[in-house]
Amino acid sequence: MIKTFPKIHLIAVAGISLVVGSALVLSPSADVEAKRMTIDLDLHQESGKATDVPEQPVADANKAAPDAAPDSIPRENGEAPSSPDQATAAAPEQPAPPAEPALEWTEMDVESGDTLSTLFNEAGFNDGLMLSVIHGDGDAEKLQHLYVGETLAFGTSPDGELEKVRLERNRLESLVIERTDDGYAGEIVMREPEPRVAFASGEIEGSLYLAGKEAGLDDRITMELAGIYGWDIDFVYDVRKGDTFEVVYEELYLDDEKIDNGKIIAARFVNRGREVIALHYTDSNGESDYYTPDGDSMRKAFLRTPINARVSSPFNLQRRHPVLDVVRPHEGTDYAAPTGTPIKAAGDGRVSFAGWKGGYGRTVVLSHGDNITTLYAHMSKLGKGINSGTRVEQGQTIGYVGASGMVTGAHLHYEFRVNGVARNSRTIDLPEANPVPESEMARFKAATQQQIAQLNTLGEGFRQIAMAEEAVADEEQQ
Ligand SMILES: [Zn+2]
Repeated sequence: MIKTFPKIHLIAVAGISLVVGSALVLSPSADVEAKRMTIDLDLHQESGKATDVPEQPVADANKAAPDAAPDSIPRENGEAPSSPDQATAAAPEQPAPPAEPALEWTEMDVESGDTLSTLFNEAGFNDGLMLSVIHGDGDAEKLQHLYVGETLAFGTSPDGELEKVRLERNRLESLVIERTDDGYAGEIVMREPEPRVAFASGEIEGSLYLAGKEAGLDDRITMELAGIYGWDIDFVYDVRKGDTFEVVYEELYLDDEKIDNGKIIAARFVNRGREVIALHYTDSNGESDYYTPDGDSMRKAFLRTPINARVSSPFNLQRRHPVLDVVRPHEGTDYAAPTGTPIKAAGDGRVSFAGWKGGYGRTVVLSHGDNITTLYAHMSKLGKGINSGTRVEQGQTIGYVGASGMVTGAHLHYEFRVNGVARNSRTIDLPEANPVPESEMARFKAATQQQIAQLNTLGEGFRQIAMAEEAVADEEQQ
Protein backbone atom coordinates (compact mmCIF):
# COMPACT_ATOMS: atom_id res chain seq x y z
CA MET A 1 0.00 0.00 0.00
CA ILE A 2 1.19 3.45 -0.79
CA LYS A 3 1.55 5.40 2.38
CA THR A 4 1.48 8.88 1.05
CA PHE A 5 -0.49 11.42 2.93
CA PRO A 6 -2.50 14.27 1.60
CA LYS A 7 -0.89 17.64 1.70
CA ILE A 8 -2.22 19.98 4.33
CA HIS A 9 -1.94 23.65 5.08
CA LEU A 10 -0.57 24.25 8.44
CA ILE A 11 0.06 27.90 8.72
CA ALA A 12 -1.78 28.37 11.94
CA VAL A 13 -0.62 25.29 13.70
CA ALA A 14 0.77 26.07 17.08
CA GLY A 15 4.28 25.08 16.20
CA ILE A 16 4.21 27.12 13.09
CA SER A 17 2.60 30.25 14.39
CA LEU A 18 5.16 30.21 17.13
CA VAL A 19 7.72 30.56 14.46
CA VAL A 20 5.96 32.83 12.12
CA GLY A 21 4.82 35.18 14.81
CA SER A 22 2.19 37.82 14.57
CA ALA A 23 2.67 38.76 10.96
CA LEU A 24 0.52 35.87 9.88
CA VAL A 25 -2.87 36.38 8.49
CA LEU A 26 -5.35 33.68 9.05
CA SER A 27 -8.36 33.23 6.94
CA PRO A 28 -11.40 31.84 8.68
CA SER A 29 -11.04 28.59 6.80
CA ALA A 30 -7.38 28.29 7.64
CA ASP A 31 -8.31 28.96 11.20
CA VAL A 32 -10.63 26.02 11.26
CA GLU A 33 -7.98 23.78 9.79
CA ALA A 34 -5.50 25.22 12.17
CA LYS A 35 -7.52 24.36 15.21
CA ARG A 36 -7.88 20.84 14.06
CA MET A 37 -4.14 20.56 13.74
CA THR A 38 -3.40 22.50 16.87
CA ILE A 39 -4.99 19.84 18.99
CA ASP A 40 -2.70 17.23 17.60
CA LEU A 41 0.38 19.28 17.63
CA ASP A 42 0.08 20.88 21.01
CA LEU A 43 0.66 17.48 22.51
CA HIS A 44 4.17 17.67 21.25
CA GLN A 45 4.81 21.28 21.86
CA GLU A 46 6.50 21.40 25.25
CA SER A 47 9.84 22.24 23.79
CA GLY A 48 8.61 23.50 20.49
CA LYS A 49 8.90 27.16 21.27
CA ALA A 50 10.67 28.89 18.54
CA THR A 51 13.42 31.39 18.47
CA ASP A 52 12.94 35.00 17.72
CA VAL A 53 12.15 35.40 14.07
CA PRO A 54 11.04 38.93 13.48
CA GLU A 55 9.19 39.11 10.19
CA GLN A 56 10.29 36.69 7.59
CA PRO A 57 8.75 33.42 8.46
CA VAL A 58 10.89 30.47 9.06
CA ALA A 59 13.71 30.20 6.63
CA ASP A 60 15.32 33.55 6.15
CA ALA A 61 15.87 34.05 9.79
CA ASN A 62 18.52 36.63 9.20
CA LYS A 63 17.80 38.54 12.29
CA ALA A 64 17.49 35.67 14.66
CA ALA A 65 19.79 36.49 17.48
CA PRO A 66 21.97 33.53 18.34
CA ASP A 67 21.08 33.83 21.98
CA ALA A 68 17.41 34.58 21.54
CA ALA A 69 15.65 33.26 24.56
CA PRO A 70 13.02 30.81 23.44
CA ASP A 71 10.63 32.20 26.00
CA SER A 72 10.86 35.73 24.77
CA ILE A 73 7.82 35.27 22.59
CA PRO A 74 4.67 35.56 24.61
CA ARG A 75 2.68 32.40 24.50
CA GLU A 76 -0.39 34.23 23.20
CA ASN A 77 1.33 34.93 19.95
CA GLY A 78 2.19 31.36 19.62
CA GLU A 79 -1.30 30.04 19.68
CA ALA A 80 -3.58 29.92 16.77
CA PRO A 81 -5.87 32.87 17.17
CA SER A 82 -9.28 31.78 18.30
CA SER A 83 -11.24 33.96 15.94
CA PRO A 84 -10.68 35.32 12.48
CA ASP A 85 -11.04 38.87 13.80
CA GLN A 86 -8.28 38.38 16.22
CA ALA A 87 -6.15 36.99 13.46
CA THR A 88 -6.72 39.97 11.26
CA ALA A 89 -5.93 42.32 14.08
CA ALA A 90 -2.60 40.65 14.50
CA ALA A 91 -1.74 41.14 10.88
CA PRO A 92 -0.61 44.68 10.26
CA GLU A 93 1.13 43.79 7.02
CA GLN A 94 -1.90 42.64 5.12
CA PRO A 95 -2.72 45.39 2.62
CA ALA A 96 -6.19 46.65 3.35
CA PRO A 97 -8.67 46.33 0.51
CA PRO A 98 -9.04 49.68 -1.22
CA ALA A 99 -11.32 51.67 1.04
CA GLU A 100 -12.68 54.22 -1.37
CA PRO A 101 -16.42 54.15 -1.07
CA ALA A 102 -16.54 57.58 -2.62
CA LEU A 103 -15.13 56.43 -5.96
CA GLU A 104 -17.10 54.63 -8.57
CA TRP A 105 -15.01 52.12 -10.47
CA THR A 106 -15.24 51.13 -14.10
CA GLU A 107 -13.14 48.12 -14.87
CA MET A 108 -12.21 46.78 -18.27
CA ASP A 109 -10.00 44.01 -19.59
CA VAL A 110 -7.39 44.98 -22.10
CA GLU A 111 -8.17 43.02 -25.24
CA SER A 112 -6.52 42.63 -28.56
CA GLY A 113 -7.06 45.79 -30.62
CA ASP A 114 -7.66 48.06 -27.62
CA THR A 115 -5.70 51.25 -27.29
CA LEU A 116 -5.46 53.51 -24.31
CA SER A 117 -7.52 56.00 -26.23
CA THR A 118 -10.37 53.58 -26.97
CA LEU A 119 -10.40 52.42 -23.37
CA PHE A 120 -10.52 55.99 -22.06
CA ASN A 121 -13.29 56.79 -24.49
CA GLU A 122 -15.23 53.69 -23.52
CA ALA A 123 -15.00 54.79 -19.91
CA GLY A 124 -16.35 58.19 -20.88
CA PHE A 125 -13.13 60.21 -20.93
CA ASN A 126 -11.58 62.07 -23.83
CA ASP A 127 -8.07 62.00 -25.23
CA GLY A 128 -7.20 65.28 -23.58
CA LEU A 129 -7.71 63.75 -20.17
CA MET A 130 -5.82 60.64 -21.26
CA LEU A 131 -2.86 62.82 -22.20
CA SER A 132 -2.82 64.63 -18.91
CA VAL A 133 -2.89 61.27 -17.14
CA ILE A 134 0.04 59.81 -19.07
CA HIS A 135 1.94 63.07 -18.78
CA GLY A 136 1.60 62.88 -15.02
CA ASP A 137 4.46 62.55 -12.59
CA GLY A 138 6.29 59.44 -11.53
CA ASP A 139 5.43 56.26 -13.35
CA ALA A 140 2.25 57.65 -14.94
CA GLU A 141 3.76 57.46 -18.44
CA LYS A 142 3.98 53.71 -18.15
CA LEU A 143 0.25 53.56 -18.70
CA GLN A 144 1.05 53.83 -22.41
CA HIS A 145 2.32 50.27 -22.41
CA LEU A 146 -0.74 48.11 -22.29
CA TYR A 147 -0.76 44.38 -22.76
CA VAL A 148 -3.61 42.05 -23.55
CA GLY A 149 -4.89 40.39 -20.39
CA GLU A 150 -4.24 43.34 -18.10
CA THR A 151 -7.07 45.08 -16.32
CA LEU A 152 -7.61 48.81 -16.47
CA ALA A 153 -9.86 50.48 -13.92
CA PHE A 154 -11.07 54.05 -13.67
CA GLY A 155 -12.12 55.48 -10.32
CA THR A 156 -14.48 58.40 -10.64
CA SER A 157 -15.65 60.76 -7.92
CA PRO A 158 -19.38 61.46 -7.49
CA ASP A 159 -18.97 64.69 -9.46
CA GLY A 160 -17.54 62.79 -12.45
CA GLU A 161 -13.87 63.65 -11.91
CA LEU A 162 -11.31 60.95 -12.81
CA GLU A 163 -9.56 60.44 -9.46
CA LYS A 164 -7.67 57.22 -10.02
CA VAL A 165 -6.53 54.95 -12.78
CA ARG A 166 -5.38 51.50 -11.85
CA LEU A 167 -3.68 49.17 -14.31
CA GLU A 168 -3.27 45.66 -12.97
CA ARG A 169 -0.40 44.08 -14.84
CA ASN A 170 -0.79 40.87 -12.93
CA ARG A 171 -1.74 39.84 -9.45
CA LEU A 172 1.44 41.17 -7.99
CA GLU A 173 2.08 44.33 -9.96
CA SER A 174 -0.14 47.36 -10.60
CA LEU A 175 0.32 50.88 -11.80
CA VAL A 176 -1.75 53.27 -9.73
CA ILE A 177 -2.22 56.83 -10.97
CA GLU A 178 -3.90 59.35 -8.72
CA ARG A 179 -5.14 62.85 -9.26
CA THR A 180 -3.01 65.44 -7.49
CA ASP A 181 -3.38 69.18 -7.04
CA ASP A 182 -1.70 69.85 -10.35
CA GLY A 183 -2.39 66.83 -12.53
CA TYR A 184 -1.75 63.15 -12.01
CA ALA A 185 1.01 61.06 -10.46
CA GLY A 186 1.65 57.38 -10.94
CA GLU A 187 3.33 54.73 -8.88
CA ILE A 188 4.09 51.06 -9.43
CA VAL A 189 2.66 49.07 -6.57
CA MET A 190 4.10 45.63 -5.96
CA ARG A 191 2.40 43.19 -3.68
CA GLU A 192 4.36 40.63 -1.76
CA PRO A 193 2.71 37.27 -1.57
CA GLU A 194 2.46 35.97 1.94
CA PRO A 195 4.36 32.75 2.55
CA ARG A 196 2.54 30.10 4.52
CA VAL A 197 4.06 26.91 5.73
CA ALA A 198 2.89 23.66 4.23
CA PHE A 199 3.94 20.11 4.87
CA ALA A 200 3.87 17.00 2.77
CA SER A 201 5.20 13.55 3.26
CA GLY A 202 5.32 10.39 1.26
CA GLU A 203 6.71 6.95 0.78
CA ILE A 204 8.32 5.95 -2.45
CA GLU A 205 6.73 3.08 -4.27
CA GLY A 206 7.97 3.68 -7.78
CA SER A 207 9.68 6.99 -8.27
CA LEU A 208 10.14 10.14 -6.26
CA TYR A 209 8.17 11.91 -8.94
CA LEU A 210 5.12 9.69 -8.46
CA ALA A 211 5.39 9.76 -4.69
CA GLY A 212 5.62 13.55 -4.80
CA LYS A 213 2.51 13.73 -6.92
CA GLU A 214 0.71 11.40 -4.57
CA ALA A 215 1.71 13.61 -1.64
CA GLY A 216 0.28 16.67 -3.37
CA LEU A 217 3.59 18.28 -4.25
CA ASP A 218 3.78 20.10 -7.54
CA ASP A 219 6.48 19.11 -10.01
CA ARG A 220 8.68 22.08 -9.22
CA ILE A 221 8.87 21.30 -5.50
CA THR A 222 9.55 17.65 -6.29
CA MET A 223 12.31 18.67 -8.67
CA GLU A 224 13.74 20.98 -6.04
CA LEU A 225 13.68 18.20 -3.51
CA ALA A 226 15.51 15.98 -5.98
CA GLY A 227 17.97 18.80 -6.57
CA ILE A 228 18.70 19.26 -2.86
CA TYR A 229 19.30 15.54 -2.34
CA GLY A 230 20.68 14.87 -5.81
CA TRP A 231 24.23 15.41 -4.56
CA ASP A 232 23.82 12.61 -2.12
CA ILE A 233 21.26 10.27 -3.62
CA ASP A 234 21.01 9.09 -7.20
CA PHE A 235 17.28 9.11 -7.78
CA VAL A 236 17.56 6.65 -10.63
CA TYR A 237 19.83 4.07 -9.02
CA ASP A 238 19.84 4.59 -5.25
CA VAL A 239 16.21 5.13 -4.34
CA ARG A 240 14.46 2.08 -2.97
CA LYS A 241 10.85 1.21 -2.44
CA GLY A 242 10.03 2.23 1.11
CA ASP A 243 12.25 5.30 1.14
CA THR A 244 10.35 8.17 2.72
CA PHE A 245 10.44 11.93 2.58
CA GLU A 246 8.98 14.83 4.53
CA VAL A 247 9.00 18.37 3.23
CA VAL A 248 8.24 21.66 4.92
CA TYR A 249 7.81 24.28 2.24
CA GLU A 250 6.21 27.61 1.55
CA GLU A 251 3.00 28.26 -0.26
CA LEU A 252 2.55 31.80 -1.47
CA TYR A 253 -0.79 33.44 -0.88
CA LEU A 254 -2.41 36.57 -2.11
CA ASP A 255 -5.78 37.58 -0.69
CA ASP A 256 -6.11 34.20 0.94
CA GLU A 257 -5.70 32.49 -2.37
CA LYS A 258 -2.74 30.34 -3.17
CA ILE A 259 -0.88 31.67 -6.18
CA ASP A 260 2.29 29.63 -6.14
CA ASN A 261 4.67 27.53 -4.15
CA GLY A 262 7.69 29.08 -2.54
CA LYS A 263 10.87 27.42 -1.44
CA ILE A 264 11.58 24.29 0.52
CA ILE A 265 12.35 25.24 4.11
CA ALA A 266 13.36 21.87 5.48
CA ALA A 267 13.23 18.28 4.40
CA ARG A 268 13.96 14.81 5.64
CA PHE A 269 14.77 11.96 3.31
CA VAL A 270 15.21 8.41 4.51
CA ASN A 271 17.09 6.44 1.86
CA ARG A 272 17.57 2.74 2.65
CA GLY A 273 17.26 3.51 6.33
CA ARG A 274 19.72 6.40 6.26
CA GLU A 275 18.17 9.72 7.27
CA VAL A 276 19.40 12.98 5.78
CA ILE A 277 17.93 16.30 6.90
CA ALA A 278 18.32 19.38 4.73
CA LEU A 279 17.73 22.88 6.09
CA HIS A 280 17.46 26.09 4.13
CA TYR A 281 19.78 28.75 5.51
CA THR A 282 20.57 32.28 4.39
CA ASP A 283 24.02 33.27 5.63
CA SER A 284 25.15 36.68 6.80
CA ASN A 285 26.18 37.57 3.24
CA GLY A 286 22.65 36.88 2.06
CA GLU A 287 23.58 33.65 0.27
CA SER A 288 21.06 30.86 0.64
CA ASP A 289 21.73 27.17 0.49
CA TYR A 290 20.83 23.85 2.08
CA TYR A 291 22.79 22.35 4.93
CA THR A 292 22.60 19.41 7.28
CA PRO A 293 21.77 20.21 10.92
CA ASP A 294 25.53 20.10 11.59
CA GLY A 295 26.15 22.84 9.07
CA ASP A 296 27.61 20.64 6.34
CA SER A 297 26.66 21.63 2.84
CA MET A 298 24.19 19.44 1.00
CA ARG A 299 26.25 20.16 -2.08
CA LYS A 300 29.48 18.66 -3.19
CA ALA A 301 32.39 20.72 -4.39
CA PHE A 302 31.94 18.97 -7.76
CA LEU A 303 29.03 18.10 -9.95
CA ARG A 304 28.92 14.37 -10.53
CA THR A 305 28.30 15.03 -14.21
CA PRO A 306 29.10 18.28 -16.00
CA ILE A 307 26.39 17.82 -18.62
CA ASN A 308 22.83 16.57 -18.92
CA ALA A 309 23.50 13.60 -21.14
CA ARG A 310 23.91 9.85 -21.07
CA VAL A 311 27.23 8.09 -20.65
CA SER A 312 28.33 6.71 -24.00
CA SER A 313 31.69 5.36 -22.90
CA PRO A 314 32.74 4.88 -19.28
CA PHE A 315 36.05 5.45 -17.57
CA ASN A 316 38.13 2.36 -18.41
CA LEU A 317 41.86 2.02 -18.07
CA GLN A 318 41.87 -1.12 -20.29
CA ARG A 319 39.84 0.21 -23.17
CA ARG A 320 40.54 -0.41 -26.83
CA HIS A 321 40.60 2.98 -28.52
CA PRO A 322 37.73 3.36 -31.01
CA VAL A 323 39.81 5.22 -33.59
CA LEU A 324 43.32 3.89 -33.08
CA ASP A 325 42.18 0.31 -32.35
CA VAL A 326 44.87 -0.30 -29.75
CA VAL A 327 44.54 -0.73 -25.99
CA ARG A 328 44.58 2.80 -24.80
CA PRO A 329 43.18 3.63 -21.37
CA HIS A 330 40.07 5.78 -21.43
CA GLU A 331 40.98 8.21 -18.72
CA GLY A 332 37.64 9.94 -18.69
CA THR A 333 33.94 9.48 -19.22
CA ASP A 334 32.21 10.22 -22.51
CA TYR A 335 28.78 11.75 -22.66
CA ALA A 336 26.91 11.63 -25.97
CA ALA A 337 25.07 14.83 -26.67
CA PRO A 338 24.19 16.93 -29.71
CA THR A 339 26.68 19.55 -30.84
CA GLY A 340 26.00 22.77 -28.98
CA THR A 341 24.84 21.21 -25.70
CA PRO A 342 26.24 23.38 -22.88
CA ILE A 343 29.01 21.96 -20.71
CA LYS A 344 29.15 23.05 -17.07
CA ALA A 345 32.16 23.63 -14.85
CA ALA A 346 32.09 20.72 -12.40
CA GLY A 347 33.35 22.92 -9.59
CA ASP A 348 34.55 26.39 -8.71
CA GLY A 349 38.01 27.00 -10.06
CA ARG A 350 40.27 28.71 -12.51
CA VAL A 351 40.79 28.02 -16.22
CA SER A 352 44.31 26.62 -16.56
CA PHE A 353 43.98 25.81 -20.25
CA ALA A 354 41.54 26.88 -22.97
CA GLY A 355 42.19 26.09 -26.60
CA TRP A 356 43.26 23.30 -28.98
CA LYS A 357 44.94 20.30 -27.38
CA GLY A 358 45.92 17.69 -30.01
CA GLY A 359 43.52 14.74 -30.19
CA TYR A 360 41.38 16.34 -27.46
CA GLY A 361 40.43 19.09 -29.92
CA ARG A 362 38.98 22.22 -28.40
CA THR A 363 39.52 21.76 -24.68
CA VAL A 364 39.15 23.47 -21.32
CA VAL A 365 41.09 22.42 -18.22
CA LEU A 366 40.08 23.76 -14.82
CA SER A 367 42.18 23.82 -11.64
CA HIS A 368 40.14 23.54 -8.47
CA GLY A 369 42.64 23.52 -5.63
CA ASP A 370 43.61 20.43 -3.61
CA ASN A 371 45.44 19.35 -6.79
CA ILE A 372 42.19 18.48 -8.51
CA THR A 373 41.82 19.30 -12.19
CA THR A 374 38.96 18.63 -14.59
CA LEU A 375 39.20 18.47 -18.37
CA TYR A 376 36.49 18.92 -21.00
CA ALA A 377 37.38 17.91 -24.56
CA HIS A 378 36.06 17.90 -28.15
CA MET A 379 34.13 21.17 -27.75
CA SER A 380 32.57 22.90 -30.74
CA LYS A 381 33.29 26.23 -29.10
CA LEU A 382 34.43 27.66 -25.80
CA GLY A 383 32.06 29.39 -23.40
CA LYS A 384 31.86 33.15 -23.35
CA GLY A 385 34.87 34.73 -21.65
CA ILE A 386 36.61 31.39 -21.06
CA ASN A 387 40.34 32.10 -21.27
CA SER A 388 43.38 30.95 -19.36
CA GLY A 389 43.18 32.42 -15.89
CA THR A 390 39.43 33.06 -15.88
CA ARG A 391 37.69 32.23 -12.60
CA VAL A 392 34.66 30.02 -13.06
CA GLU A 393 31.86 28.98 -10.79
CA GLN A 394 30.36 25.56 -10.45
CA GLY A 395 27.63 25.12 -13.04
CA GLN A 396 28.85 27.93 -15.28
CA THR A 397 28.85 27.12 -19.00
CA ILE A 398 32.47 26.77 -20.08
CA GLY A 399 31.89 25.41 -23.57
CA TYR A 400 29.64 23.47 -25.92
CA VAL A 401 29.66 19.88 -27.09
CA GLY A 402 31.31 19.28 -30.44
CA ALA A 403 33.34 16.76 -32.39
CA SER A 404 36.70 18.53 -32.49
CA GLY A 405 39.90 16.49 -32.27
CA MET A 406 40.18 12.78 -32.82
CA VAL A 407 36.60 11.56 -32.44
CA THR A 408 33.97 9.50 -34.21
CA GLY A 409 31.03 11.71 -33.24
CA ALA A 410 29.92 14.63 -31.11
CA HIS A 411 30.40 14.01 -27.40
CA LEU A 412 31.98 15.40 -24.27
CA HIS A 413 35.06 13.65 -22.94
CA TYR A 414 35.36 14.53 -19.25
CA GLU A 415 38.35 13.82 -17.02
CA PHE A 416 38.75 14.18 -13.27
CA ARG A 417 42.34 14.12 -12.03
CA VAL A 418 43.78 14.17 -8.53
CA ASN A 419 47.50 14.96 -8.36
CA GLY A 420 47.59 14.39 -12.11
CA VAL A 421 46.19 10.86 -11.87
CA ALA A 422 42.98 10.14 -13.77
CA ARG A 423 40.15 9.00 -11.49
CA ASN A 424 36.65 7.80 -12.27
CA SER A 425 34.50 10.90 -11.88
CA ARG A 426 31.39 8.79 -11.48
CA THR A 427 32.51 6.79 -8.49
CA ILE A 428 35.13 8.90 -6.71
CA ASP A 429 34.15 10.27 -3.29
CA LEU A 430 33.54 13.91 -3.99
CA PRO A 431 34.56 16.49 -1.40
CA GLU A 432 31.73 18.46 0.15
CA ALA A 433 31.19 22.11 -0.66
CA ASN A 434 32.10 24.57 2.06
CA PRO A 435 30.25 24.03 5.33
CA VAL A 436 28.86 26.83 7.44
CA PRO A 437 32.00 28.55 8.77
CA GLU A 438 32.77 28.21 12.46
CA SER A 439 32.32 31.95 12.90
CA GLU A 440 28.73 31.68 11.76
CA MET A 441 27.80 28.44 13.47
CA ALA A 442 25.93 30.04 16.38
CA ARG A 443 23.87 32.07 13.96
CA PHE A 444 23.21 29.00 11.84
CA LYS A 445 22.09 26.96 14.83
CA ALA A 446 19.76 29.69 16.01
CA ALA A 447 18.28 30.18 12.57
CA THR A 448 17.69 26.53 11.81
CA GLN A 449 16.55 25.38 15.22
CA GLN A 450 12.91 26.06 14.49
CA GLN A 451 13.11 24.39 11.11
CA ILE A 452 14.14 21.19 12.78
CA ALA A 453 11.41 21.60 15.36
CA GLN A 454 8.94 22.16 12.55
CA LEU A 455 10.01 19.13 10.67
CA ASN A 456 9.73 17.02 13.79
CA THR A 457 6.46 18.50 14.99
CA LEU A 458 4.72 18.43 11.65
CA GLY A 459 6.01 14.99 10.84
CA GLU A 460 4.84 13.69 14.19
CA GLY A 461 1.45 15.39 13.90
CA PHE A 462 1.08 14.00 10.44
CA ARG A 463 1.88 10.48 11.46
CA GLN A 464 -0.66 10.71 14.27
CA ILE A 465 -3.37 11.83 11.88
CA ALA A 466 -2.45 9.17 9.38
CA MET A 467 -2.56 6.51 12.08
CA ALA A 468 -5.90 7.76 13.32
CA GLU A 469 -7.28 7.77 9.80
CA GLU A 470 -6.01 4.29 9.21
CA ALA A 471 -7.61 3.11 12.42
CA VAL A 472 -10.93 4.61 11.35
CA ALA A 473 -10.60 3.02 7.95
CA ASP A 474 -9.83 -0.34 9.52
CA GLU A 475 -12.82 -0.06 11.78
CA GLU A 476 -15.06 0.79 8.87
CA GLN A 477 -13.86 -2.24 7.00
CA GLN A 478 -14.76 -4.58 9.81
ZN1 LIG B 1 36.59 9.95 -24.05
